[in-house]
Amino acid sequence: MSRKPLIAGNWKMNLNHLEAIGLVQKIAFALPAKYFDKVDVTVIPPFTDLRSVQTVVEGDKLLLTYGAQDVSQHDSGAYTGEISGSMLAKLGATYAVVGHSERRTLHGEDDATVLAKTKAALKHGLTPIVCIGEGLDIREAGNQVEYNLEQLRCSLQGLSAADIAKVVVAYEPVWAIGTGRVATPSDAQEVCGAIRAELAKLASDEVAAGVRVLYGGSVSSKNVGEIVAEPDVDGALVGGASLKGEEFATLCAIA
Ligand code: PEP
Repeated sequence: MSRKPLIAGNWKMNLNHLEAIGLVQKIAFALPAKYFDKVDVTVIPPFTDLRSVQTVVEGDKLLLTYGAQDVSQHDSGAYTGEISGSMLAKLGATYAVVGHSERRTLHGEDDATVLAKTKAALKHGLTPIVCIGEGLDIREAGNQVEYNLEQLRCSLQGLSAADIAKVVVAYEPVWAIGTGRVATPSDAQEVCGAIRAELAKLASDEVAAGVRVLYGGSVSSKNVGEIVAEPDVDGALVGGASLKGEEFATLCAIA
């Protein structure tokens, strides 16, 4: 089964809503419509930008989509500071990132929370981008495959094959995020290939063949081509390089 690559730009806590409008317009200007037949492009701005991004995307009939950096595991109620899946769906969001390493390390999110958020995203019709990835100590000990598969199993535990089919998995080695130290294409393939084999065990060969597995960690226009050329790498989750319109558009065009 051929999988359309996905490039997702995670803006993290950068850009106010006016800057967001400017960046989306820049990306759209630099990325002609013909590219969207070959690659799906999404931006993942801060919550406060989503309404403005929606207005530009819908008003200008842009082909790119947008998503959220997180989603609450709860539907509504006394959860100060949280944003629910239904709120995001109402804003036209397509994706919700769950389990980003910055949420796991800075906000103490564990696999059980990631699973609850994955379920919440699916419940509200959002596509969860489920992030997993090993730290440097695990990589240096050579335990990266085993570690990532355990995170994957815990983050998808109990989901039906039909739900697993709706998920995007992002393999993001923590040592590569924001460091400029990108994994080699074969490092990325090793883990992404193992993820796909595990998805086949958790769901089926058919489901595994259709799920997009992304690589994330210091991806730029300079290295995206060789990374997405690997058979089990179906795109990238991009942080720093997604904040520059032309660079991000070039990266998407190469993918
Ligand atoms: C990320 O935020 O998910 C990420 C991969 O960041 P960067 O591309 O800057 O390493």
